[in-house]
Amino acid sequence: MRRLVVLGATGSVGRSTLDVAARHPSRLQVWALTAWRDVAAMAELCRTHRPAIAVMADAGHADALRSALRADRIDTEVLGGPDALCQVAAAPEADLVMSAIVGAAGLLPTLASVRAGKQTLIANKEPLVMAGRLLMREARASGACILPIDSEHNAIFQCLPPAYRCGQEPLGVRKLVLTASGGPFREWSAERIAAATPAEAVRHPNWSMGQKISVDSATLMNKGLELIEAATLYGMSDAQLDVVIHPESVIHSLVEYVDGSLLAQLGQPDMRIPIAHALAWPDRWESGVGGLDLAALGRFRFEAPDLARFPCLGLARAALRDGGHAANLLNAANEIAVERFLNGQIGLMQIPAMIADCVDAGLGHHAAADDDLETTLAVDAWARQWCLRELPRYASASQRSPNPHA
Ligand code: NAD
Ligand code: MG
Repeated sequence: MRRLVVLGATGSVGRSTLDVAARHPSRLQVWALTAWRDVAAMAELCRTHRPAIAVMADAGHADALRSALRADRIDTEVLGGPDALCQVAAAPEADLVMSAIVGAAGLLPTLASVRAGKQTLIANKEPLVMAGRLLMREARASGACILPIDSEHNAIFQCLPPAYRCGQEPLGVRKLVLTASGGPFREWSAERIAAATPAEAVRHPNWSMGQKISVDSATLMNKGLELIEAATLYGMSDAQLDVVIHPESVIHSLVEYVDGSLLAQLGQPDMRIPIAHALAWPDRWESGVGGLDLAALGRFRFEAPDLARFPCLGLARAALRDGGHAANLLNAANEIAVERFLNGQIGLMQIPAMIADCVDAGLGHHAAADDDLETTLAVDAWARQWCLRELPRYASASQRSPNPHA
């Protein structure tokens, strides 16, 4: 019996993780769950999964959860505040940690899990983008095993030899090919994309996900972040990483070997597949997802990504090539820009505009490429402040090009 911590339990990946875990009660015990501030959702998860500990990262919501659980006579211990996230992630009781918080907020608990040598299942890609080298260095030092949950990276892991571990150089590999659905705007003109509303951006054709990653999928920044994530996990250079649009989202990624063989992992677009793979690894367990009816699918399409309509992908590639603070700056600027797009302050194409300007300004401001935690957090905070200070420029640029489809 292994004890599981789910960071970000109330989110899309968190719920899929609990769905898989609940199918294997003799193998996994849900030991701790964390959420930001959704008390009702957390109380419901506690009723179903009876964790020993529940954490509300926003400490102001811990009392409300305590009262709700007391009323139901549930004896889950409730902790509050961001430090408690790190505490459960590194606790001696924890065997497996699912990192499924969204954004940079997941960095410290993910790092705590890795430093404590836990088997760490990483869905939360932003920490790998902002502090990839640091996380991989700490994993080597502690012996923590990192298992990728992002469907593309999990697919690649499944296509590498069984003895392969993240952080090593994969032998005999020529390149990795990340597939991308293309998102909801794959066939839209540049003018129509510029006028897209938040509701249109979060309507993903194939996957049901949290709001932030849905917008990232619409701008293709998600694939950009995934390029940097793949470079981090598999030690690959920019030149060894390809992106291909595959609208069916059935082939989740491919590994091309030096002999010309390409291995791919296929499956329904359902996160329970990579989650079950990593929870069971190196074993295989039921995920609750069926196979594929290939004859009914009929055909697979592939096309090259269009960097003119989707400049975020090019910005991420440039940040990967930079190798210094650019990825961290890009990630922080993207988080702020997406939040401001979702609340209607800027248009979709102001997202890449703000990111490009912030990365340029930040690279001028932060010369040294130190990648310790303190520098990482300082660069992240600098980028967020820069974006908030410069926001009015991007907001007024959006107003000058009113949305003809609104
Ligand atoms: P989500 O928005 O559905 O859930 C986010 C979770 O994080 C929630 O439990 C929320 O309470 C918690 N959270 C948010 N802000 C927090 C904060 N400041 N402090 C502590 N907790 C906080 O997100 P999601 O779609 O489940 O995605 C989670 C991560 O997994 C993201 O990094 C995303 O890129 C990655 N990912 C998601 C999918 C998917 O299918 N949803 C696929 C691949 C990768
Ligand atoms: Mg993905």
